[in-house]
Formats: sequence, C-alpha cells, structure tokens
Amino acid sequence: MSVWAILVAAGRGERLGLDRPKAFANLGDEPLLAEPLRRLEACPWVDAVVLVAPPGWEEPAILVAEEEGCGKVCACVTGGETRSDSVRAGLAEVSEDALVVLVHDAARPLLSDEVVERVLAPLSEGWDGAVPGLPVGDTLKRVGSDGGIEETVAREALWAVQTPQAFAVDALRRAQTNGGDATDCAGLVEAAGGRIKVVEGDPRLLKVTSEADLETVAGWL
Ligand code: C5P
Repeated sequence: MSVWAILVAAGRGERLGLDRPKAFANLGDEPLLAEPLRRLEACPWVDAVVLVAPPGWEEPAILVAEEEGCGKVCACVTGGETRSDSVRAGLAEVSEDALVVLVHDAARPLLSDEVVERVLAPLSEGWDGAVPGLPVGDTLKRVGSDGGIEETVAREALWAVQTPQAFAVDALRRAQTNGGDATDCAGLVEAAGGRIKVVEGDPRLLKVTSEADLETVAGWL
C-alpha cells in the first residue's frame, strides 16, 4: 500500500515567545522541523511526504528539507489559520493513488518507526484509522472559571492521544469535506462515523509547546 505523510508545521507557536514559528525553533543546533523530516525520510513505511509550512516560511521549509536530503518531500504547501485548515491544505496534495495517509505534528519531533508500524497495522484489519495514545495517569478534575473543582472525572478508559495518526485516505477525505475543527484528525473521522483504534504511543512523542519541552526533547536526542 502506498503511504503518504502530511507533516503539519504551520503553527505559530506563540507560547515559545520566539520571533519565528515553532517549526524553526532551535532543537539542538538545528530547526525543530529538521528532526521529524529526517525521521520520515528514513522511515521504511513512508513513501512520500507533504510538508505544510507557516505562511511566508515556505522557502525556508523547503531549504531545511533539501539540506536534510529529504527526497520523499513531494510538495510544500502553505498552512491555514487552524490545524484542520493546514491538514486540509496538505491532503489536497496527497496523490489519488495513496491508500493510507499519516498526519504528524512537526511539534512532536521524535517520531519512531515502531510507532508508525503500530498505527498502520489496524488499517489492514479494517479500521478507518489508528492513533497512538498513552493511558492518563493523573487524576482528572473539571475546573470552573473561578478555579473551583466541579467534578472528578473517572480516568479509567481515558487516553491522551498523540500523532502520527494513520487513516485510510478516503475516510480522512470524507471527514474533511464535512468541515469542522477538531483538535486532531481522528476527531473529524470519528464525527463522520469512522472507527478509530488507539495503539500504544510513546512518551517521547511529547508535543513541544514551551522552552522546557524543547530542552526535554533535545535531551532525548
Ligand atoms: O498548535 P498545536 O501545538 O496544537 O499544533 C500541533 C501541530 O499542528 C504543530 O506541528 C503545528 O505546527 C501544526 N499546526 C499547523 N497549522 C496551524 C496550527 C497548528 O500546521 N494553523
């Protein structure tokens, strides 16, 4: 089966407080984007990559891909206002021949072949998609605007979901045409009636949102 990956890197990353988008924050001595690009390039399960860059940063993004020797990158497109918009822009570049699409956050640089293999496996068993997740360890509270606890939420059966998320291309295309703005692609496919399986994720797929996260991920390199 032909597997395409969409690497969404168009977020502003305002919480990092930099003068450039998060994908260009320094991870070690390289832009963050270089790490997931290199890993997708080396991943034996991935045939082609669509890169979604922040508006105005398309050229620097292509340059990073070229410097990393990422021959699988077939297209670099401009991202949108929301993550869903960015995925939609990337999906438009995915070949009609593709059977499976992986959507991955550039902000989770430490993608592994093992996780990719785990999310792809359920697709050959008839699932519409699969996502990596980790069971929630902390006790969860619903908190009101005044900081008061309103409810303790039972954490059994709750999972924190990561990327890469794998989908049968048709299922994701159908879900996207319905519109909506879920915080992950699985949310869109679920809303369209798709069946999504959760497989074991990886703590190293931490999403970089702060300077401390960048240091943590750099320490794992
Ligand atoms: O904003 P958040 O941290 O949830 O973003 C997750 C991923 O989605 C990041 O890799 C970010 O670059 C990407 N994103 C995007 N376009 C947006 C917002 C986020 O490609 N408009």
